[in-house]
Amino acid sequence: MLSEVTPFHFQGFDFYVKRDETIDPLLSGNKYRKLYSLLQTPAHTYQTIMSYGGTQSNAMLSIAALCRQKGWFFHYYCKPIAPHLKQQPSGNLLAALDLGMLLFETNHDDYETTITQLKSNGSSLLIPQGGADAIAQQGIEILAQEIRQWQQSTNLKPLYIVTPSGTGTTAFYLASALPEYTVLTSACIANKNYLITQMQQLGTMPDNLRLLQANRKFHFAQPYPELLHMYEQLKTAGITFDLLYAPQMWLTLLEHMQNFDGTVLYVHSGGLMGNATMLERYQHKGLIT
Ligand SMILES: *Cc1c(COP(=O)(O)O)cnc(C)c1O
Repeated sequence: MLSEVTPFHFQGFDFYVKRDETIDPLLSGNKYRKLYSLLQTPAHTYQTIMSYGGTQSNAMLSIAALCRQKGWFFHYYCKPIAPHLKQQPSGNLLAALDLGMLLFETNHDDYETTITQLKSNGSSLLIPQGGADAIAQQGIEILAQEIRQWQQSTNLKPLYIVTPSGTGTTAFYLASALPEYTVLTSACIANKNYLITQMQQLGTMPDNLRLLQANRKFHFAQPYPELLHMYEQLKTAGITFDLLYAPQMWLTLLEHMQNFDGTVLYVHSGGLMGNATMLERYQHKGLIT
């Protein structure tokens, strides 16, 4: 087992949490699982890994840590960087640059063409934004196997497995690998339709995968008092979660709890490295004193 399952009493309910945030501080949570197959790949297989996306992305930091371990170059493409961040890199960006990541900034207009041109060839590999790729399947199947073993050893049922979605890659492969349980997720980036489109690029939607709708809409990675409050309540209850995905997932899950009569296992998706910069933004907004 790469991580243990701990009981978690929260808001009057008894949950269990699969503690994937404890696997590795940089290669954390579902990013460790998604990059697992590359961690097992012999170093001589590639020279360079390329990827693209946001400049505070958790996937970016995890790929940077992977490449450092493997001795691979890491080229990361992004849209124009906010001036303050360019002057003084912080958070995940600073950590990834310190790990040797080379950052390539493109114009808004050239971004899409640049990405299309980054074709994988013999010595380099292109990982799509957020690690949304079939390379993720192997590591998530191992996570699935660990969950199955835990369920069989405790005999808790019926089992609902919860994990928040960005690209939906984790929830998709988890549901595919565990047809005997129900997997619940929620779209934390954009909306449900975007998430379904993303997931359909990986294959046919598994029947046991359910997308829960939040009562209200949040813009991804923006500070909201409700999300901060949820983060703080979770922390007080004993587990620190990330500030981008987990608060939305927990809010949505709690709104739907009356529909689930059984055991709920929340898979911690990591991402704690990004919390420092998010907490600073909450401070700037005056939401933390
Ligand atoms: C990347 C990430 C997710 C989303 O994972 P997907 O496989 O893209 O859906 C969820 N939680 C955290 C903390 C993440 O870093």
